[in-house]
Amino acid sequence: MTQDHERPLPVPTIDTQGYWHAVNEGRLVFQRCLKCGELRFYPRAFCVSCLSDELIWELASGRGRIYTFTICHIPGNPAMAEKIPYAMAMIDLDEGVRMLAGIIESQLSHIHIGAAVEVVFERLTPDLSLPQFTLCKSG
Ligand SMILES: [Zn+2]
Repeated sequence: MTQDHERPLPVPTIDTQGYWHAVNEGRLVFQRCLKCGELRFYPRAFCVSCLSDELIWELASGRGRIYTFTICHIPGNPAMAEKIPYAMAMIDLDEGVRMLAGIIESQLSHIHIGAAVEVVFERLTPDLSLPQFTLCKSG
């Protein structure tokens, strides 16, 4: 007998709704502070460098490299049990921000630190998508 577990979904907040709206449209974005120019990810209400709340969304290329990763053999949530083993990674985007995301790769042994990756979007619901990454074929 199997149990159905619902996958936890992101819950957009007033500070993150712009990010989730873009992701749902297939665009990966990050924040830039208009006062000091610092880049931000994850989305916040204010710049942690200068405390300005003048932040804008900028479009990311969707490309980056794996900073570090792990292969999950024990699901972090029962809803992920059917996906094990799966890879989670810290991705350094080409623009200079770092984000946590899943790596979609059928050959997990191909994943390595420094590997070039590009974003793909996994649709979770009609209103929510989740950025994931795949290995670039050219490395
Ligand atoms: Zn700032």
